[in-house]
Amino acid sequence: MNKWPDGFLQSIDGLPGFDEDSFRKAHEVVPPVSVRLHPLRGAGLFPDVPVIPWEPQGRYLPQRPVFALDPLWHAGAYYVQEASSMLAGWAFDALFPQKAGLRVLDLCAAPGGKSTHLAALLPPDSLLVSNEVIRTRAGILTENATRWGYANHWVSSNDPTAFARLPQFFDCLVIDAPCSGSGLFRKDPDAMTEWSPEAVQLCAQRQQRILHDAWPALKPGGIVIYATCSYSFEEDEAVVDSFCTETGAEPVLLTPETSWGAVPVQTTGGVLGFRCYPDQVRGEGFFLAAFRKPVTPTEPARKGKKSSSAHDATLWNKASHLLSGSDWVCIPDGKNARALPAFLEADWQQLKHVVYLRRAGIEVGMPGAKEWIPDHALAAAVDLNPSVPAVALSLEAAHRYLRCEDPGIDPPQQGWLLATYEGRPLGWMKAVKGRINNYLPRHLRLRLRG
Ligand code: SAM
Repeated sequence: MNKWPDGFLQSIDGLPGFDEDSFRKAHEVVPPVSVRLHPLRGAGLFPDVPVIPWEPQGRYLPQRPVFALDPLWHAGAYYVQEASSMLAGWAFDALFPQKAGLRVLDLCAAPGGKSTHLAALLPPDSLLVSNEVIRTRAGILTENATRWGYANHWVSSNDPTAFARLPQFFDCLVIDAPCSGSGLFRKDPDAMTEWSPEAVQLCAQRQQRILHDAWPALKPGGIVIYATCSYSFEEDEAVVDSFCTETGAEPVLLTPETSWGAVPVQTTGGVLGFRCYPDQVRGEGFFLAAFRKPVTPTEPARKGKKSSSAHDATLWNKASHLLSGSDWVCIPDGKNARALPAFLEADWQQLKHVVYLRRAGIEVGMPGAKEWIPDHALAAAVDLNPSVPAVALSLEAAHRYLRCEDPGIDPPQQGWLLATYEGRPLGWMKAVKGRINNYLPRHLRLRLRG
C-alpha cells in the first residue's frame, strides 16, 4: 500500500457515505477479482463461485488466474471486469427496459468493459457505437469488440466534438469519463502518485467539455449515463450539477438495491446518482448518475439522407453461407468485405462520413482465386454459421494455436477450419497437404508460456 496522496483523504471527507476508518481498512485488503460471462458463450463457466448481485453474468473469482493462458478468454467467453463498474450495465438495463431499436454511444469506451456489457444487453435490432479518442487504446477496444462478436457493435476513434455532427442521433450516451482515478487506488496503488488537487480540477474541466461536446448527438428525451472511477466531488456531483443547470437536463431515478452497498446521492440541483466505496460495495470506487435531455417542441426531427445501397450481390453470393440469417448487406471495403445487418446500412452510410469507423458489422474476408479467404472477425462473430467445419483443440493444441504455431493436430479434412476450444471459437486455420497453416492474426498471439 502506497502513501495516501497529500490532501486526498481530506478532500473526500464529509462526502455521502464516506467513512475514513473503514475506507482505509478496505485498502489493506486484496481487491476482488471478477469477470462477466458472454451471454452466448459463457454458459457453465466458473460454476460454484458467487454471482455479482447486480449482474446475472458477473462472477467473483476466488483468485486471479493468468487470464492470458486461458483459451476461453481469447475466445470471448468472458470479459475481465471490475465489479462496481458492472453497475453501469445495471443502470442501462434499468433505464431502458424496452431496448428495441436503440442507438447507444459509449463515448469513452476503451478498453471495452462497459461496451461489451452494453453489447450483451442490447437486442440485435439496436446499434452500439463504442468510441475511443486515443488511437492505441482504440486498437485494444476494437480487439475486444471483435472478440465479443456482435455485428451491431461498432467502433469509432474520434474526439467527442465529432459527434456534434450527428445531431439527435443517439438514444443514450454512456460517458465513462477519463478521471483522476482514485476509485482504483486499491487495484493500482501506483495511481496514488499521480493524484493531485490540480489533476482533479483538470479532469473536471475535461469532463464538462466532453459532456457539452457530445450533448447535441443525443435525441430529446434521450439519457446520459455519466460515470467516473473517482471519489472527488468536483468530478462527480459538481460536474453533473453544473452541466444539468446549464442545459436543463432532468434527473432520472436510479435505485440500486440497498444490500449492494452503493450510496445514493442527490446533487443540490437535484441530479440523482450513487457512489461506491470499497468498504461498502464488493468492488472498487465508482460514481454514476443519469439525466435526460428535455423534449422541446421546437427541435426539428432528425432526417437521415437516403443513399443507394452499397450491397454487392455478386460478392455476397460467395460469402453468404458463412453467416447465419439472411438479412445482410455485403459491402466491399478495400481488401476485405463487410457484412452489415441490412437495417443498419443507412446508419453506416451516415456515420462513415462523420466519424472514423474502425469496426462496423463483420469483416468477413475476401474472395481468393479458388475460395473465400475468411477474416479473423468472422471466426469470432456470434453470427458465424454453425455449420462451418470446426476442429476442437486440446488445451496444449489451443496454446500452440494461440502462439501462432502449428497446433500439431491431425486435421479431419482439408481446407479452412475453425479452431475451437471447449466449443468456443479461437480463429481460422487451413489444412493443406498434411500441414496446418495458422491464420490467427499475429498481433493477437499469446506471448506467455504456460
Ligand atoms: N469505459 C471504459 C471501460 O469500461 O473499459 C473505460 C474508460 S476510461 C475510464 C476513460 C477513457 O476516456 C480512456 O480510454 C481514455 O483514453 C479516454 N479519454 C481520454 N481523454 C479523452 C477525451 N478528451 N475525450 C474522450 N475520451 C477521452
